[in-house]
Amino acid sequence: MSDYQQLLLNFERLGLNHMQAHFPAFMDQVNQKETTLTAALLEMTEKEIGFQDQQKTDRVIHRARFPKLKTFDAFDFDFQPGLNRMEILDLKHLGFMAHSENIVFIGSPGVGKTHLATALGVEACRQGKRTLFINCHELLLRLRTAYDKGTLERVLRRYARYELLIIDEIGYLPIERQEADLIFQLLNMRYEKRSTIFTTNIALSGWGELFKSPETAAAILDRIVHHAKIYKITGRSYRLRRDPSA
Ligand code: ADP
Ligand code: MG
Repeated sequence: MSDYQQLLLNFERLGLNHMQAHFPAFMDQVNQKETTLTAALLEMTEKEIGFQDQQKTDRVIHRARFPKLKTFDAFDFDFQPGLNRMEILDLKHLGFMAHSENIVFIGSPGVGKTHLATALGVEACRQGKRTLFINCHELLLRLRTAYDKGTLERVLRRYARYELLIIDEIGYLPIERQEADLIFQLLNMRYEKRSTIFTTNIALSGWGELFKSPETAAAILDRIVHHAKIYKITGRSYRLRRDPSA
């Protein structure tokens, strides 16, 4: 095997697939004296770094399990004039995560709650934060199953560890008392340590009824809103936008 072939294999063994792919073209340029060896190596390594960073982001986004990828770029703020565009876009810098603050998006269906929560989650992933998007009822089901199997502690610790947890659609389905206790335990573990984003169609004043226990609801709300940014979206449903009379 020639040195050249061995070098290409070595790139592969080191996981430098991008360098391996670009090496022949760069070496041609070096041989033709179109570039220096240093400049060629610099460009090859930069491409490799860019590629690996992108792969890492893709992995983090994949693990976050967003139902659909959404971005701020695709969000039409003109449609929701009640939202302060600058304030929402500022969330991208993740200052709320640095301070372990929560975010709550409240509003009726179709106003963009899940879109905004996802866009923020994607941004967190891009910045390397371990993120999980989960529907409230899937979360409750998982916690209940863990409780039944005697693995609650372990499962709670797993959900507590995510740097950003997005709990979508609180209030779309009824919540049992025992489930309210489980969610309280999780939020208590995350309280003042990690940020959680919530979307809900129920005003916070209606949570007592939703959780079937004013005491548990008060304890949950206390943990959520102590350090939180709360956005009420009062506009129209984007889903129905083509029919203004709807
Ligand atoms: P919600 O979670 O409040 O029920 P969604 O975030 O799921 O609503 O929004 C419903 C659909 O409309 C999604 O496809 C979302 O991307 C889109 N959408 C909602 N609001 C906007 C907006 N202001 N600009 C662009 N798309 C929007
Ligand atoms: Mg939604």
